[in-house]
Amino acid sequence: MLFTDVIRAKRDGGELSAEQIQFFVDGLADESLPIEQVASLAMAICLNSMTFDEAAALTMGMAASGTVLDWSDMGRDGPVVDKHSTGGVGDKVSFLLAPIAAACGCYVPMISGRGLGHTGGTTDKAEAIPGYNTAPDFETFRNVVKSVGCAVIGQTADLAPADRRLYAIRDVTATVESVPLITASILSKKIAAGLDALVMDVKVGSGAFMPSHERAVELSKSIIATAAKADLKTNVVMTDMNEVLGATAGNALEIEESMAYLRNDYRDSRLDDVVMALCAEMLLVTGLEKDVDHALERCDKAVTSGQAAERFDEMTVALGGPAGFVANSAKHLARAPVTRPVHASGFLSEVNARAVGNTIIELGGGRHMVGEKLDLSVGLSDVARIGTLLDSETPLAIIHAASDDAAAMAERLLLSACTTSEEAPEINPVIHEKLTGDA
Ligand code: URA
Repeated sequence: MLFTDVIRAKRDGGELSAEQIQFFVDGLADESLPIEQVASLAMAICLNSMTFDEAAALTMGMAASGTVLDWSDMGRDGPVVDKHSTGGVGDKVSFLLAPIAAACGCYVPMISGRGLGHTGGTTDKAEAIPGYNTAPDFETFRNVVKSVGCAVIGQTADLAPADRRLYAIRDVTATVESVPLITASILSKKIAAGLDALVMDVKVGSGAFMPSHERAVELSKSIIATAAKADLKTNVVMTDMNEVLGATAGNALEIEESMAYLRNDYRDSRLDDVVMALCAEMLLVTGLEKDVDHALERCDKAVTSGQAAERFDEMTVALGGPAGFVANSAKHLARAPVTRPVHASGFLSEVNARAVGNTIIELGGGRHMVGEKLDLSVGLSDVARIGTLLDSETPLAIIHAASDDAAAMAERLLLSACTTSEEAPEINPVIHEKLTGDA
């Protein structure tokens, strides 16, 4: 088969056959297809989309392109369940939700991604923890999930390798924003992870791959229907991504905010609402709880009792990181040499969250090219929320940069990403809508 024929067929709006899709998957997994051909087909899919059957074939093909995990012989006493996000700015939910869900009786084998487009990646953030191994062998991964209840790792070479390659190429070729490609990317990893159930955080807004409510619903329905084809029960929570989630954006800074949350030092209320809603949904989708109030109460108790923090510490040590990390995180995390507050005046009324994500990339915290090494220390802290009255005391954010020039550039980008007004703006609810696999 000539791959140029496959690209041409999709470029001209045609439907690819199952054989053509399998040829694509095989060429991704064994790296026989060059980057330019992969990027061309990804762009053609972005422009002309895929039918449900094409997207399902791509999903199943990529899921089967490497090892498929099986937890049936683990001797466990709870469900194997995970959460995945479609990607956002400042989205550090995984570091909180995985240990909370583990403390509530779930087993969470969380296979996360690196930064994608303007969004940050959980794997990159985890690598801000010195010694933390995001690519353990399967035996270690299994043992950590079994003994601790959760393991947040990156995509290893043997798990959905076809997605791993496609993901890295989409990251730098503006080919992320496609319902079938996002569906196949996420679900291939989750099917390969051998889950009993999945909760999806589908982000909506200026920092999401699906900015409009309609497109986010379309993506949610695509994910639920494709997951059902693979017998993976999936519920979706649509959450707001019209501004940074929490008070930080950038790898090490987000880890520090996550540890403050687990220590019960500071729980940003929007971040908390998203973590609690998703975690409660994990208890509901697995039948561990029957009603949402009990589920929320159980999740909250896991944080306030310190049990989630204990799980995080156990996971970190089991994956090679330092002991007692939650309590002493600031001591271990890299700090940028330059910090500078950015001031504006008036109510913060609108944020182009994608432009904020791109600011992190320009600071060196995200990639322009496949395989680029990141500066994990850079980013933003003390990020003001929409509705905050900004003045000389209350900054828009504090920039953490590698140099004064980089800080000045980030300041310009940040100011042009944000709008202020004299009147207090309306505040978006952070939880938009829930969709269940039963609907
Ligand atoms: N997360 C993924 O794993 N893949 C996507 O395409 C988008 C978000």
